[in-house]
Amino acid sequence: MKNRIKQVKVANTVTIREAMLCIDKSALGVALLVDPHTDRFTGLVTDGDIRRALLNGLGLENPVSHVSRPNPIIANKEMSVEEISDLLSEPIRIVPVLDDDEKVVDLAIFDKRAYLPIAEPQFGEAELKYVSECVLTGWVSSAGRFVKKFEDLFAAFCGTKFAVTTTNGTAALHLSMLALEIGSGDEVIVPSLTFISTANAVTFTGAKPVFVDSEPYTWNIDPAGIEKAITSRTKAIIPVHLYGHPADMDPILEIANKYGLAVVEDAAEAHGALYKGKKVGSLGDMGVFSFFGNKIITTGEGGMIITDKKELAEKVRILRDHGMDTRQRYWHPVLGYNYRMTNIQAALGVAQMERIDQILMKKIEIAKFYREELGCIKGIILPPEADWAKNVYWLFSILIDEDQLCFTRDQMMEELKQKKVETRPFFPPVHNQPVYTTCQKLPIAENLSSRGLSLPSSPNLSIGSIKNIAGYIKDFVGCSVERGYI
Ligand SMILES: *Cc1c(COP(=O)(O)O)cnc(C)c1O
Repeated sequence: MKNRIKQVKVANTVTIREAMLCIDKSALGVALLVDPHTDRFTGLVTDGDIRRALLNGLGLENPVSHVSRPNPIIANKEMSVEEISDLLSEPIRIVPVLDDDEKVVDLAIFDKRAYLPIAEPQFGEAELKYVSECVLTGWVSSAGRFVKKFEDLFAAFCGTKFAVTTTNGTAALHLSMLALEIGSGDEVIVPSLTFISTANAVTFTGAKPVFVDSEPYTWNIDPAGIEKAITSRTKAIIPVHLYGHPADMDPILEIANKYGLAVVEDAAEAHGALYKGKKVGSLGDMGVFSFFGNKIITTGEGGMIITDKKELAEKVRILRDHGMDTRQRYWHPVLGYNYRMTNIQAALGVAQMERIDQILMKKIEIAKFYREELGCIKGIILPPEADWAKNVYWLFSILIDEDQLCFTRDQMMEELKQKKVETRPFFPPVHNQPVYTTCQKLPIAENLSSRGLSLPSSPNLSIGSIKNIAGYIKDFVGCSVERGYI
């Protein structure tokens, strides 16, 4: 980078010809002008500025000061990478980063082909420090101070009495079913539009997942469909808070109450989301979370069960530890599993809990910017936020209204892929998955699944990138401000 800075700097006393030579050599389309004595940044000139000056009849031997920009955009080295990248755009491709002496210490360069991932973790000093502590002290397995600490922090965050860590979210779901003593001959109601592990956790126990259609607005399980699916074998309901938006819990809890069913919330995608002011996961008998690498916070792989019920928490703790008696080592009254989280995973988790509020704020801010950019495009349907809900927008997801647009969701995804923007299609409905294929028709889940896609939603995503993504979508939709659509 030092070399790059040297190449792009030129004394502010040179001629236009010399500045052009500098631009030519650095191939960045810009020359940074500096005071030849103090090396202080005094302005910049782009190849476009020079071209326009020449067309206006200015000669090459004139001083470059005649064409330099009066107020170029600059950054200070104290600014965050985020703040600096927000200054960059298609027309502003280079921003010099200055120190307090106004000397150029770095260059921020706009690279529109940089690949934008759907989600990536946000780590900092604390993650490194706590994981290092595990390695340095040797506490790398499932004993160690971070496991308990992570559980305590997470229970406090969700407002429940107990939290139990697990190896991953699927294991947490499986344990929740086992703790409720669900097994062969039982049925558990799940939405069809979800990630497959919601249903698999039921199947692992020998019970049968019964698939219910979605609500068109929230994309979550339709409470009316639940009641129709109940039989004498039904034992539990697993509502999923899809893509960060809470399921409509009150009618679900009412039905569960009426028929004596347990409720396990699959909150793997919705840490911190609120249903009528309460944290999701804390409303049912148990709530389950995932800390996979692309989830709201991550421990690499990891999961958690939260509950207010002491006896369920205790059962889960025994089942995740080989079914071992808590008072007698190597004594196993029940069939258990090894579903314990490691201290290394929990170390990451503790560090992530220090930034979870900040991550959630960023997710919500990202959603706000996407809404502003995409809000008025005909044919693009934005994600829900019911008036009783706080959506945390795990992945900012949209629907393509194929009646209004002349392309499919898959064509939109292909277009964005060409622009180096990663997207994800909605989950295929589980009732149509090869491992489950039922003859059911669940038209809303099927329809949402074929029309939905998720856009990049990393907490690291810059506002500039959102503008670019929205720009690609607007271009593809072919509606622009001039055409009066937006
Ligand atoms: C990610 C996810 C899970 C599973 O979590 P893992 O930690 O990957 O096992 C379960 N349900 C939903 C809805 C998910 O999105």
